Amino acid sequence: MAAYDKEIGLQREIHNIENSPFRTKFVNIHKDMKGTSAIGCISDFDPQPLLIRSKLGVYAIAIVGRILNQDALIDKLLSDYSGHFDAMTSGAVNSTEIVAALINSKKTYTEGVEFAQSVIEGTASIILLKDDGNIIVARDRLGRLPVVIGKNDEGFAVTFESFAFEKLGYADHSELGPGEIVEITPTEIKQLKEPGKEMRICSFLWSYYGYPTSNYEGVNVEVMRYRNGHIMAKRDKATNPDMKVDYVCGVPDSGIPHAIGYSNESGIPFARAFIKYTPTWSRSFMPTDQTQRNKVAKMKLIAVPELIKDKDLLFVDDSVVRGTQLRETVEFLLESGAKSVNMRSACPPIMFGCKFLNFSRATSDMELIARRIMFELEGEDSLNYVDEYSNPDTERGKKLRQIICDELHLTSIEFQTIEGVIAAIGLDPSKLCTYCWTGKE
Ligand code: SF4
Repeated sequence: MAAYDKEIGLQREIHNIENSPFRTKFVNIHKDMKGTSAIGCISDFDPQPLLIRSKLGVYAIAIVGRILNQDALIDKLLSDYSGHFDAMTSGAVNSTEIVAALINSKKTYTEGVEFAQSVIEGTASIILLKDDGNIIVARDRLGRLPVVIGKNDEGFAVTFESFAFEKLGYADHSELGPGEIVEITPTEIKQLKEPGKEMRICSFLWSYYGYPTSNYEGVNVEVMRYRNGHIMAKRDKATNPDMKVDYVCGVPDSGIPHAIGYSNESGIPFARAFIKYTPTWSRSFMPTDQTQRNKVAKMKLIAVPELIKDKDLLFVDDSVVRGTQLRETVEFLLESGAKSVNMRSACPPIMFGCKFLNFSRATSDMELIARRIMFELEGEDSLNYVDEYSNPDTERGKKLRQIICDELHLTSIEFQTIEGVIAAIGLDPSKLCTYCWTGKE
């Protein structure tokens, strides 16, 4: 976190919250830090906010996103302006420092932020606290991530997750458009750059990683998930009328609302065959090592045997990525006496890792179960058939589903269609990023 006070100037505190909840590390900080404006950020990789002293002034800066052309930008900055970057282990440079260097290369903050947005390939939403207490906010060029402004009697607040306002007494004020830059003063929002016309907001915000009480582009996450489950159930009713299921269950947490939507539409009772147990493993603890992640994910779920034994079950998860956790879950359910396990993924088969956000659920594309199977069947040509494998009505689509069922011991598996997920979000498809399912930018 960084704060600005007229007497003290800018102050900054960074803490590692990998193994302890945010609250325990930051509970006293708001007492120690003083001021009238502040910024903060939770970051998986780069420690931030950074405090920068430049020809523009002293400022604190944090970013959200992923810079794909980091090395080229570093080389260019070093050759044009000399100077240096703080290097981390193996020579990596903090992405936020690169953005700061790009901003510092221009004569004003506005020019600098605009320049940074124009040369960064990838995604970077920027928040910058100046040494006069004003805050400059820029949404990433294609609006892959949201930026929402709230207002109360004392001033403004800005956030990625709109629900943050509710408990703090802010009312929704406005949402920045793609690439829009504003400066927030105590009394007004000054527009420094108009929004661009093109938008590609991340569809996965709604299906998986957005918070249920948040709204992005006016669409609530929880409501979208009910709609999504409803669409999947409708399709199953039409294509699978004889499927025998005693309970519809959701894989906690984000699978649950999709399952509720499915249950409401299908009329099949919803049940919680797994309950999430979090006292030992806090919400914020998410190790970067995949084996550890799997272990923690497993430890967090506790089964209710009475809802599993002798039952035909249908599980809805937010997505199917590698399939490793799913395999363990299905094995456990079958060992616990389930008669059959059907799986529904709330999004289409994931064919490509995300290259726009620091949001990686697989380290390489070939770890994605759908992509791996496609490659095994088609070899180097596999990318020509992404649409067919995604589509449940094609021979290739049916084959993919059959192989996943055989590998994971499922009775059936189906994925939400790309049209289904777009309909559930309800925005114009041209405004949505669906790259990880279609490979189309
Ligand atoms: S590639 Fe997928 S996860 Fe990444 S921004 Fe696009 S929709 Fe979101």
